[in-house]
Amino acid sequence: MAFKLKEAVFRVRCREPGCPFVSDFLVKENLQGATEADVDSEAWKLAKDLGINRHDAIHGKRHSMMDPDIHKIRSSYETIGGVPRGKAPAAPARLGETINTRRYDRSDRIIVKGERATTVCEVVRGSARNVHRPSLVYRPGSTFGAAGLFENKRRMADIVAAENGTIIAFYDMRELWTSDREKAKELSNEAMEDIFRVLAWLEDRCDALEKQLAQRKAGGAVKKGGRKPAKKAAAKRSKKKAAKKPVKKPAKRR
Ligand SMILES: [Zn+2]
Repeated sequence: MAFKLKEAVFRVRCREPGCPFVSDFLVKENLQGATEADVDSEAWKLAKDLGINRHDAIHGKRHSMMDPDIHKIRSSYETIGGVPRGKAPAAPARLGETINTRRYDRSDRIIVKGERATTVCEVVRGSARNVHRPSLVYRPGSTFGAAGLFENKRRMADIVAAENGTIIAFYDMRELWTSDREKAKELSNEAMEDIFRVLAWLEDRCDALEKQLAQRKAGGAVKKGGRKPAKKAAAKRSKKKAAKKPVKKPAKRR
């Protein structure tokens, strides 16, 4: 049994600090191999060449792209030889051992609260949002999943795709620190910024709740929710009065 490439998309990024070059390349060549990983590896080389050509055409005067960061966004294959395929669509194999890219449609779960966190997530395309904090939206270039910066932490929020075709890159930070320190620094800074963004959100929310609570305690009948405690308080007051009366009455009799 052999595999033939239908098509694959790779994202090629220049590692040169400050270089903005990043581009997606579609590979549709007739590539064949004994495994999907073999086909991938050939497609990967083509994408690298395409990337270098385009990069050097634009930025070649300043520097040429020697060792780009390349990862697969998607790929599909056909089997040839008529033997039924026993495998699910390929794992990214050795491509992007530190990065794994996945595509999502609107409302698809990207990370789930309580899961073990092993990666930090960056939005490549589309957007993502926090299920319980709707104002926290992540757009291309922004980072979430800061728990992945640390060992043995669990996801602290549910994050879903906010639109169809959202692409998220997952970075294994431990590997990234050795393979691409610049990217690792950038991601950990962004992830920390996200932590502060979430903290700011929580602080606002906390302030709002404290205000509500204070209003309920003070006024009672300010809102719907305020009435119940007010009634209870009234009931207590009348109970107290009722309790006091018998005390007073005997006093009058004396
Ligand atoms: Zn460059």
